[in-house]
Amino acid sequence: MTRDVLIQLLYIVAFALFIYGLMGLTGPRTAVRGNWIAATGMGVAVVATLLTPGMGNWWLILLGVAIGTAAGVPAAKRVKMTAMPQMVALFNGVGGGAVALIAWVEFRQSAGFAHEPTYVAVASLFSAIVGSVSFWGSLVAYGKLQEIVASRPVGVGKLQQPLNLALLLVSVGCAAAVVAGADSSWLIAGLLVSAAALGVLVVLPIGGADMPVVISLLNALTGLSAAAMGLALDNTALIVAGMIVGASGTILTNLMAKAMNRTIPAIVAGGFGGGSGTALAVDGDRSVRRTSAADAAIQLAFANQVIIVPGYGMAVAQAQHAVREMADLLEDRGVTVYYAIHPVAGRMPGHMNVLLAEADVPYERLKEMDDINREFARTDVAMVIGANDVTNPAARTDPDSPIYGMPILNVDESQSVIVLKRGMATGFAGVDNALYFAPKTTMLFGDAKSSVSEVTEELKAL
Ligand code: NDP
Repeated sequence: MTRDVLIQLLYIVAFALFIYGLMGLTGPRTAVRGNWIAATGMGVAVVATLLTPGMGNWWLILLGVAIGTAAGVPAAKRVKMTAMPQMVALFNGVGGGAVALIAWVEFRQSAGFAHEPTYVAVASLFSAIVGSVSFWGSLVAYGKLQEIVASRPVGVGKLQQPLNLALLLVSVGCAAAVVAGADSSWLIAGLLVSAAALGVLVVLPIGGADMPVVISLLNALTGLSAAAMGLALDNTALIVAGMIVGASGTILTNLMAKAMNRTIPAIVAGGFGGGSGTALAVDGDRSVRRTSAADAAIQLAFANQVIIVPGYGMAVAQAQHAVREMADLLEDRGVTVYYAIHPVAGRMPGHMNVLLAEADVPYERLKEMDDINREFARTDVAMVIGANDVTNPAARTDPDSPIYGMPILNVDESQSVIVLKRGMATGFAGVDNALYFAPKTTMLFGDAKSSVSEVTEELKAL
C-alpha cells in the first residue's frame, strides 16, 4: 500500500469516528463516550496529516503539540461546569485564530498566491477574514462570560452599524486586491486587523443574555473558516471536520435563537440584557414573603404534583444530588414530581440535563419547556431552584423589558411557588423578576444545596 492510500484510509477512519462520535452527543448518557470517539478520530486525522510527505520540522511540530497539551489539558480538567461556556468560547476562538494564521503563512509562502489558482486565494482569504473575526469575537465573548469585560451591551451608538460595515468593506477590499494580483504584506495585515476590529465590535454590544447564541454562531464561523482552509490546502480532513462544526454550529445557533424567540440579525444588532448579580430594586410597595425549610416541606409533602424548576443557581450550588434525594422522598409519599427544563437554563446548552443525569434523575421526569408549560396550571407547588431569567413573567407581559419575547417557564401559573436563592440578586440578563413579589410566591433564602438538604431533613421528620 502506498503512503498516499494509507493516508486516505486513515482519513476515512477518522471521518467515520467523527460521525459516530457526534451521534453519541445527542444524549447525556452517551455524550462522554461520543466525545472520546470523536477525539480519537481527530487523533487519527492528525497522524494521517503528519504522514504527508515533506511535513517539515518535526521538533517544531512536537514543541507545538507539547505547548498545546500543557495549556489545554489542565485547563479542561480544572474547569468548573459553570465556566464551560467560557472555555468553549476560548477553545473555539483559538481554532479560528489558527486558521487565520495558516492563511497568513500561505500568503507569505506563495508570494501572495501568485502561482496558485484563484479558488485557493479566495478560500484562504475568506478563512483569514472569518477566522480572525471568530478569534477576536470569541475572546470578547470569553471576557464577558468571565466578567473581565462588562457583560452589559457596550457600543458606539449610531455609528456602530456604519463602522462595522466599513471594517467589513476594508477587509473584503484587501482580499479583492490580493486576488487581483497585489502581493503587499500590508494588504494581508490590513485584512487581519480590520477583521479583528470587526470581531471585537460585533460582540461588544451584545448583552450577556445573548452570549450562548453568539458563542454558538462563532463556533459555526470557525468551522466554516476551517472548511475553506481545507479547500485551499486540499486537505479533506479539514474540509470534513470544518463542515461538521459549521453545520452543527449553525443548527445549534438556530435552535437556541428560536428558544429565546430572537432572530440572529437582532442578536448581532446587540443590546439584549447583561450585568448579572445586581441587587433588585425593592420599592416601598413591593416586599417578598420569606418561608422556612419546615414550612416548605409541609407545603411539598401535601401536594399532589410538584414541578422542580432548576437554573444556574442549582449548578453553582451543585445541588443536583440533594434535589434528587428530596424528590425521591416526595415520590415515596405519592407526590408526582417533574423537572421543567428551559433550553437556556444555566450557562450552556443542555446544562440542566447534564447535571440531573449525573444525579440519576429518571429521564422521563425531565420535561421540555413546551410540554411542561401546560402542566403548571394544575400544579400545587412549583419549586424554583436557582433559576431566575427563565421564570421571569416580564418576558411575556412587559414590552419594555429587555427580555420581552423570550419564551419562559410559566411558573407563575401554578397554585404556589417556592423560590430558592441566596438573596435578591438578578440573573444573567440583569433584570428584575416580578415573580418574587407575587402573592403566591414565598422565598427560601440560602445556598440552594443547603436549603434543599434542610427541606429534605424536614420531610424525613414529618
Ligand atoms: P439566572 O442567571 O437568570 O439566575 C440564576 C440565579 O441563581 C441568580 O438570580 C442567583 O441569585 C441564583 N444563585 C446563584 N448561586 C446560587 C446558589 N449557590 N444557591 C442558590 N441560588 C443561587 O439563571 P437561569 O438558569 O434562570 O437563566 C439562565 C440565563 O443565563 C439566561 O439569561 C440565559 O440566556 C443565560 N445564559 C445561558 C446559557 C446557556 O447556554 N444555557 C449560556 C450563557 C448565558 P442569588 O445570587 O440571589 O442567589
